[in-house]
Amino acid sequence: MMSLRLTIPNKIRAAARILGFSAALAGLGFVCWAVYELTYKDFTAIVAPVPDSGMTLVTRADQLGEGHFGAARAGGRRHQGLDLLAPLESPVKAAKGGTVAYSGKSAKGMGEYIVIEHGKGVKTLYGHLDERFVETGARVRQGDTIGAVGKTGNAKHSAIKPHLHFELVIDGTPVDPASQEWLARLYTIERPPRPPANRQATGGR
Ligand SMILES: [Zn+2]
Repeated sequence: MMSLRLTIPNKIRAAARILGFSAALAGLGFVCWAVYELTYKDFTAIVAPVPDSGMTLVTRADQLGEGHFGAARAGGRRHQGLDLLAPLESPVKAAKGGTVAYSGKSAKGMGEYIVIEHGKGVKTLYGHLDERFVETGARVRQGDTIGAVGKTGNAKHSAIKPHLHFELVIDGTPVDPASQEWLARLYTIERPPRPPANRQATGGR
């Protein structure tokens, strides 16, 4: 009987020790998770998707068309993004952190492209890529290199300067990134004049 009385508190003590240890482990796990999650938080409103020179991004202007938002396109269409000039193969970065909603080939003119979902109805699209480094469903941090600038889709024409087609979509509607105050506060978007026109076409996207 004596031994039984002694073993009960021992068991409780052991259980308490295990509980305490588990709680500490859970706490440590939570802290690790929280720190890890913090690394996915955006550190700025937007990161330039292509290399910028002194926080300046330049839109495309060549024989076949201009790259500002709303520029004329074949068939009376309007350009729905910004064509940001960048050397071929330069890194394309996630403007904001999020989840890759699509990474693949376009049936239309976008070529190899990526769409990132940022939450709160905000998405960004990166088109004409040469390479894609992330797959659909992947989680990306702001500033991660997700691909490389290319000339896929309808940017193939030799007269079209290498660029990234960058689109900002808010609640399903493409908007002019240059009109966004949070972007304009960080980056100057330069729109060079168009060279003497080639009246043949307004190509590219
Ligand atoms: Zn474009």
